[in-house]
Amino acid sequence: MQENNAQYKSGFAAFIGRPNVGKSTLINRLVGEKISIISDKPQTTRNRIMCVLTRPDLQIVCLDTPGIHKPQHKLGEYMVKAADSALQEVDVAVFLVDASEKKGGGDEYIMKKLAAVKTPVILAINKVDKIPDKKALLPVIKSYTDEMDFAAVVPLSALNDDDFEGLIGEIAKHLPPGPQYFPPDMVTDQPERLVAAEMVREKVLLLTRDEVPHSVAVEVEEMKTRSNQDIYIRAVIYVERESQKGIIIGAKGAMLKEVGRLARADIEALLGNKTYLDLWVKVKEGWRDKASSLRQLGYD
Ligand code: GDP
Ligand code: MG
Repeated sequence: MQENNAQYKSGFAAFIGRPNVGKSTLINRLVGEKISIISDKPQTTRNRIMCVLTRPDLQIVCLDTPGIHKPQHKLGEYMVKAADSALQEVDVAVFLVDASEKKGGGDEYIMKKLAAVKTPVILAINKVDKIPDKKALLPVIKSYTDEMDFAAVVPLSALNDDDFEGLIGEIAKHLPPGPQYFPPDMVTDQPERLVAAEMVREKVLLLTRDEVPHSVAVEVEEMKTRSNQDIYIRAVIYVERESQKGIIIGAKGAMLKEVGRLARADIEALLGNKTYLDLWVKVKEGWRDKASSLRQLGYD
């Protein structure tokens, strides 16, 4: 801790953007560990994830917002609320957009939200690797800057860039003098159970492709460390229909086995202990619209 150092700067940065623009990828690269869930399907980051970047002179607490979008059901409402409150509380917002896609309704909706708060906004144009001709970036940038004043504009590739000093420097400009809020070795505030659940859900989405929609939730029912330091986790994958249950289990259980194998490897890498993952699949009809189910699954 460095509370006595007057020069130390620290604060909160919210990463905001349409689903799939690369928020989780960017935060993971900034922080250097795989904590935020990444998927090539939209809206996979349901819970607010907090990741911490610590340097000798500054600390940035990055909030991965679940994505601002128009809510269609109760889970959507929860996600919008989480994103809204993140915006009010932070020192700076990083508005992430996709350089390879035209500005859409989702971007407009977010810009309206950003305009309504006093928080300074950095425009981060992501996925520039998809635009071989850099001149083509100018009209993309202009389509945003014409509509709003940004504190800075930073083109980047969360996937391919070697460093993110440009973005970190811009964020640092908005951090007030402050203490190190978190110890340097801490990269996320997410309880380990939640992170384990997110790892499982990520693998389900990854392996089942479009066959299973987002009506998948994962609950870790039990997680304990055995006397030899091995970790035991029992998790339930909830789906909305019998047919989805069949897909996730797969022929002779092959799909579920593969989900378990990949998720276990990630959890072991994260926790540093040998892990046993006991996976179950259950049908819970219409869980997305039931407030009580949402609470039970931790989306409160
Ligand atoms: P989020 O929904 O905003 O959190 O987006 P994710 O971080 O989950 O990323 C969505 C998809 O975009 C994933 O498949 C990423 O690998 C991909 N992606 C993220 N950043 C980049 C980038 O800079 N370039 C390219 N080509 N793909 C990216
Ligand atoms: Mg995400």
